[in-house]
Amino acid sequence: MWFRSDLRVNDNPALTRACVESDDGVVAVFCICPTQWREAHHWGDAKAGFVMRSLAALRDRLESLRIPLKIVETDEFSSVPGALVELARSTKCDRLYFNREYEWNERERDEAVVEAFDDAGLNTLSFDDQVLFEPGSVLTKSSNSFYSVYSPFKKACWKRYNDELAEGNDWAVLDMPKKANAIEIEGDEIPDQIDGFGEADIDWDLWPAGEKAALNRMRAFVRHRIGDYKESRDFPARDETSRVSAYLASGVLSPKQCMRAALDANGDRIDGGNPGAVGWMEEILWREFYRHVLVGFPRVSRDRNFNADYDGLAWRDAPEDLDAWKAGRTGYPIVDAAMRCLTKTGWMHNRLRMIVAMFLTKHLLIDWREGEKHFMKHLVDGDLAANNGGWQWSASTGTDAQPYFRIFNPTSQSEKFDPDGAFIRAWVPELCDVTGKAIHEPHRNAKVDLNGYPQPIVGQKEGRERALGVFKAHRGA
Ligand SMILES: Cc1cc2nc3c(=O)[nH]c(=O)nc-3n(C[C@H](O)[C@H](O)[C@H](O)COP(=O)(O)OP(=O)(O)OC[C@H]3O[C@@H](n4cnc5c(N)ncnc54)[C@H](O)[C@@H]3O)c2cc1C
Repeated sequence: MWFRSDLRVNDNPALTRACVESDDGVVAVFCICPTQWREAHHWGDAKAGFVMRSLAALRDRLESLRIPLKIVETDEFSSVPGALVELARSTKCDRLYFNREYEWNERERDEAVVEAFDDAGLNTLSFDDQVLFEPGSVLTKSSNSFYSVYSPFKKACWKRYNDELAEGNDWAVLDMPKKANAIEIEGDEIPDQIDGFGEADIDWDLWPAGEKAALNRMRAFVRHRIGDYKESRDFPARDETSRVSAYLASGVLSPKQCMRAALDANGDRIDGGNPGAVGWMEEILWREFYRHVLVGFPRVSRDRNFNADYDGLAWRDAPEDLDAWKAGRTGYPIVDAAMRCLTKTGWMHNRLRMIVAMFLTKHLLIDWREGEKHFMKHLVDGDLAANNGGWQWSASTGTDAQPYFRIFNPTSQSEKFDPDGAFIRAWVPELCDVTGKAIHEPHRNAKVDLNGYPQPIVGQKEGRERALGVFKAHRGA
């Protein structure tokens, strides 16, 4: 059983099948690919640290199923096929089970693995587990192609669910597999250190490892907070979203486990009933949408605009502005608070992700790829599909994107979603003496010392007009 971004034993289709079909026991393997992770995927210490912690927790769960976990270190994906065939031979395994990944590099790697196993006279079996519906099975009626707009995609998913429910498929999750037959193979230690990665400077208590912690977090959210999700989800100072994204991104939790719990809380209804539950399930469907987009429009995982009309747009090369954005020193308190929160916790609230992404790509007119990379470097929940989707949405280059002329005003966003400045005050201590509404625009209003807090690096109106001019000229051209 080859684990990748499915680091759990519950509701894991490939593992379940491996356990059912393997009379002589099961061996698990995970490949550590430091160069690939760092250079091609832009992972940072937070993501790598989360994966390694999750892997250690998984190893303990596997041990209780009598499944040893082998660790293969291959540096890059290109060496994975050879390393896996060698391991299969040395452990006398005749079949490889895995759950599919949909990114471009991952799909190329998996095709090469299947070919190498074929050549070696060994079998491979793969399954869908990161998604609720197989990509390619939810298509537009008009042209039988992948959806590029979320709303009709969501409605098609609702219909599929309702049809399946009517036929008796209620999206039950798979139980933990039964113990495998004992096997005389030793598991490996999980390395403390991976080449080129260090210990992330974040509070790891925020992200307890393992599927028990993930399930507890998800269930507590569904029990206590899902009902108010629709009203409260946009306010970063309130801790009202589920914070399960890191667990979903590494597959410590499956989307079906999330949907099943929400459906249980909503009388099996996906498209009616409690608005909070429906709203939360809609977010899980956004995640689903972006995964289908990866398969239907593979260019998005190759650093390209979804919308080729924006190829060649004159992004600014402005390293000082980019550094100020990364460091949380733009002079826009809501942007700076969000960016500092990211580097200290490995996470950022969705509303803030949209605000800082829009600020970088519009007010600073810096290429979304710079922001996408920086997020991957710091997020514990870094996920190509959702990250790329979110960045291209904000930059107006993506599927179902925000039109280029609808530019968030960071100050109004701050006034609306952090009305008393509680989130800003938590992350920008220089502004601790600023009272009332002045917190959103301290330079304009405050009569107090800003303790070295920077002046805005770009005027709100000036940045907006510059972006509109460049986007408009590009479209005209
Ligand atoms: C610029 C930008 C970059 C982003 N990068 C990532 C990323 O790297 N990894 C990531 O998991 N999410 C990303 N998102 C989506 C979203 O911000 C996070 O999933 C969400 O903030 C996670 O918090 P939560 O678990 O409390 O979410 P909840 O609000 O509780 O939502 C539940 C789950 O639904 C999914 N989800 C929610 N919103 C979205 C969305 N807009 N798009 C796709 N899936 C969503 C997530 O898996 C999330 O855990 C990004 C959004 C933007 C605008």
